[in-house]
Amino acid sequence: MRFSRLRLNGFKSFVDPTDLVIHDGLTGVVGPNGCGKSNLLEALRWVMGEHRASAMRGGGMEDVIFAGASSRGARNFAEVSLQIDNTERLAPSGFNDSDGLEIIRRITRDAGSAYKVNSKDVRARDVQMLFADASTGAHSPALVRQGQISELINAKPKARRRILEEAAGISGLYQRRHEAELKLNGAEQNLIRVDDVIEQLA
Ligand code: ATP
Repeated sequence: MRFSRLRLNGFKSFVDPTDLVIHDGLTGVVGPNGCGKSNLLEALRWVMGEHRASAMRGGGMEDVIFAGASSRGARNFAEVSLQIDNTERLAPSGFNDSDGLEIIRRITRDAGSAYKVNSKDVRARDVQMLFADASTGAHSPALVRQGQISELINAKPKARRRILEEAAGISGLYQRRHEAELKLNGAEQNLIRVDDVIEQLA
């Protein structure tokens, strides 16, 4: 899967619709302090399903919406769209039947986030799993934020292992195992209840 375009609208400092075309090879983003370089990287994490406001340098998720400036009022929503070139059919199964994927995340004040993949409504989990299975995603080690290298050097072995697992593309399996364990617990509780009822009837 190759990212081909990132489109921001009302996201942080990008109040007007802005397109970033991502060509083959290495892409560098340069600009003066405060021009929005980190905001671009955060938009990428966000559209891939980041759920921690702290990872967006905000107190709440709505802080990603353009908050207004002296010449412009605040916006009511923010939207980020990520286009993926899938001509090589490398997308995980369930998403692999078209030459391209467009993932859209939109947040509206007081209404939370909504996601779409190729115009179809999906859950946050679907988008997170799509990227986890493709060995990328909001927590991908391929996205290196400021200060992260020193954090990695000082990290405990458990935290380092998580990074390796993310890179190996198995973090999606952990999520699925966790969900399966929750279902198993639910089923076990139901069985206990059934046993109680049978005992009362006997
Ligand atoms: P540096 O090189 O200093 O790290 P940068 O180019 O990475 O800077 P960012 O941190 O991406 O810059 O952008 C910071 C700018 O984004 C600030 O001017 C800040 O006011 C603006 N900004 C952040 N959130 C919002 C928001 N919700 N609404 C409007 N502007 C915002």
